[in-house]
This record gives sequence, C-alpha cells and structure tokens, in this order.
Amino acid sequence: MKSVKEFMADVVRKNPGEVEFHQAVKEVAESVFPFLQKHPKYAKEKILERMVVPERVVIFRVPWIDDNQEIQINTGYRIEMSSAIGPYKGGLRFHPSVNLGILKFLAFEQVYKNSLTTLPLGGGKGGSDFDPKGKSDREVMKFCQSFMTELFRHIGENTDVPAGDIGVGSREIGFLFGQYKRLKNEFTGVLTGKGINWGGSLIRPEATGYGCVYFVQEMLKTRKQSIKGKVCTVSGSGNVAQYTVEKLLELGAKVVTLSDSNGYVYKEKGLTSDDLKFVFELKNVRRGRIKECVEKLKGFKYVEGKRPWEVPCDIAFPSATQNEIDASDAKTLVKNGCMCIGEGANMPTVPEAVKVFQKAKILYAPGKAANAGGVSTSGLEMSQNSIRTAWTREEVDEKLRQIKVNIHESCVKYGKQKDGYINYVDGANIAGFVKVADAMIDQGVV
Ligand code: NDP
Repeated sequence: MKSVKEFMADVVRKNPGEVEFHQAVKEVAESVFPFLQKHPKYAKEKILERMVVPERVVIFRVPWIDDNQEIQINTGYRIEMSSAIGPYKGGLRFHPSVNLGILKFLAFEQVYKNSLTTLPLGGGKGGSDFDPKGKSDREVMKFCQSFMTELFRHIGENTDVPAGDIGVGSREIGFLFGQYKRLKNEFTGVLTGKGINWGGSLIRPEATGYGCVYFVQEMLKTRKQSIKGKVCTVSGSGNVAQYTVEKLLELGAKVVTLSDSNGYVYKEKGLTSDDLKFVFELKNVRRGRIKECVEKLKGFKYVEGKRPWEVPCDIAFPSATQNEIDASDAKTLVKNGCMCIGEGANMPTVPEAVKVFQKAKILYAPGKAANAGGVSTSGLEMSQNSIRTAWTREEVDEKLRQIKVNIHESCVKYGKQKDGYINYVDGANIAGFVKVADAMIDQGVV
C-alpha cells in the first residue's frame, strides 16, 4: 500500500495547481490511511484512488447581456463527484474566486458530508465565476437563465440536484428553477432551496446555521456544557451566519461579531434580535455592507479588513468561506480561552490551525460534520417533493436535529481516542468513507 505522501504526490500531479482540492484530499487521506491498513479490502479495491477522480465534470460557457447591452462571458461548472449512494447533490457557488480546484474541493467534501447525513445522497458541486454583487435583479436573472440553458441537460431529480451556496440564495434558485421548468416542461424537485409555495421545505433556509448550532450542542454535552451564556464570534453575514446567530440568540448565547469580505462588526454587549432583524434586511433585501450596522444601530464598532478571531470568545463560528482561520488566528483563539469551533463554512480552518486546536484539545469538528444540516434538509425537501407533501416546521426541525445527533454519534464512534479526546476530523472522515466505500464495492468497478 502507498504512503499518504506517495498518494498525495499522485493527486497533485494529476490535478496541478488545485491547491484547495489537494488540501481537502490530504485531510481525508490522513484520517483514512490508518483505517485502510486495518481494513485492506478498501485498499485492494482502490476506493480512495477512485474517489478523488470525479465521475464527471462539465465546464461550459455562460454568455449574457448586461443592463448596458454589453456582452458578458462567465464560465459555468458542475462537478459530479460520486453517485455511489444517491443522485449527485451539492450547491452552486457564484463568486469571482470560483475555479475548478475550489469546486472539486467542495464536491469532494460533499461526498463525505452527504454520506454522514444518513440520507441517500451522492456528492457534487457547481457554480460560476459570476459575481452577483452590484448586479441588478434583471442581470442576475439573465445570467441564471443562461447558466441553466446549459446545465439543465446534466441534472434531474434522480440524477443531480443542485442547491445554493455562496452567492446563490432564494432569488437565484427561483430564476434557475424557472428556466429549468421552461426548458424541460416539467415541475420536479430538481433544485432544493425552492420557495415555500413552489416546492420548498420549511426550515431549509435556516438549516445550515441551526444544524451547526445543534452539532455544537452535542459537542458541548460531551463536556457537560451548554450554549447558554457562551460568548460567540461569528464570521460572515450571509445565509449560514444569519441563522447561526438566530439559533444562538434563542438559546441564550451572547453573539458579539458578524463580518463580510470587507471587515467585521463587534458589539461588546451582544447582538439583540432587533440587530439581527436589521442584518436580515440589510443583507437579503438591500444587499448592503455589514459596516452599516455602525451607522444605523447602537453599540457597534467596525474593524476594516480584518476577521473577527482577535475578539475573545468561548465558541467561534466561522461561517463565511474556506481558509478564513489561519494558524495565528487559531493560536489567538486558544490563548483567549475559546473552547469550541463550529464550522458553518466549508474548510474554513487551514490544516496548521486544525493542529493548533487539536493540540489544545478543544472541541473541533470539520465543516462536513458541523454544517451538514443544509444538505440534510435539502434531502428532506427532495423526499417531500417525491411524495408531494409538505411537513410542518416542527417536523422538519426535529428530523434535522435527529440527523445532527446521529452525525455526532458517528463521529464519536470512529473518532474517540484512547485518552477520551474525540478527534472529530478522523471520526467524520472515516464514517463518511465507509458508507460510500461499501456501496462502491457492492456496485463493482464503475
Ligand atoms: P452567502 O453568500 O449567503 O454568504 C457568504 C458570506 O461570507 C457573506 O457575508 C460574504 O461576504 C462572506 N464571504 C464570502 N467570501 C468571502 C471571502 N473570500 N472573504 C471573507 N468573507 C467572505 O453564503 P452562505 O452563507 O450560504 O455560505 C457561507 C459558507 O457556508 C460557505 O463556505 C458555504 O460553502 C458554506 N455552506 C453553506 C451552506 C448553505 O446551505 N448555504 C451549506 C453548507 C455549507 P460578502 O457579502 O462581502 O461577499
């Protein structure tokens, strides 16, 4: 059997320049290799070698005309990573930083995350280098229509079911769904995150943020602690951050920060529900910048160009983007007494920073376990669409909570060390791997 180093050398050679993809694969390989040594059937079947190659990648031109009648051209992608346990499932990201390597890392992570949810969901991811920021609603619509005009032939309710991610919220899902329906002449559950009165599920908008908090509750229970009274820093101010804050406030935590790509806001006394209401309107309706909190609300400070990790806290919720906590941030967090990290974002912590958290033995779980609530509820949306029903808010929330409890149990099962410390990285990676690997063995070399 190869070493992790040899395996990674192959991955780097075959996927040149895709640094985020290399990072995501290496993290999984480091967890899974010791497991493979004890279970040689997976190594013999070359499962991990197969998993790092997408089943299919689609790259396409997305031309559209802006409000000044100028032609604009973006690149569209869909990575269909694994269909071993269900149709490809994963979000679409619209952000100028989007490239093949970033989407491959997200698709790879998605395979493990979806496996952890206990639902029959394969893994995929897609998106475009299109930036919705500063565009009119009409421009966003034209872009979405052009994007779907190619994507529609590769997706379907039993094939590949995209959802939202950075830059893709309910507005974009609406435009994408409208165009899909027009092209296919069928009303199906092909996208999740749909509007409530046209096939969406209650709790889907809330699910990633709520689910992350539910997972943190489970982690805290292992140390006989609870959320109540904990000082929390949150980064980002989009979908995941907003509903993380909503659930934290409901559970009696004190949330002191929010951010966007320009800087962070800090309120020492903690955000109120009125402050959060302002943020919902600011970000989802007016699409403004977070620093407006200082101008329009009381008690806020704004720090330009920085992330909120210098603010002392008990629990940090990175909920913006990948690699937003570096080793120095991690040391600062630990020094200031942080005891838990709840990753709302995908891979927000660089590997050196993960090591800092693990060495300090604080509660640290990777995004694929902590933020799996979004895709879980997307899975519940697919079920409701299939049987043409709508569950109540309470029903969906309870199913979401139970899924998060189950994911936590899987992480403990595979990640508990001899000294009692739970290595959630190993736990999530091995638990996610086993289910997909067994399905791949059952289905032969395909
Ligand atoms: P949104 O687009 O709603 O919000 C993203 C937030 O992060 C914005 O505040 C944005 O600021 C900030 N941000 C984005 N890029 C950067 C950057 N490079 N540096 C600093 N800040 C940045 O996205 P979501 O809330 O949906 O997604 C946030 C994270 O959660 C992502 O990592 C996503 O993959 C992950 N996730 C999302 C799920 C979902 O259901 N939506 C499910 C699971 C994970 P600005 O407005 O300035 O760009």
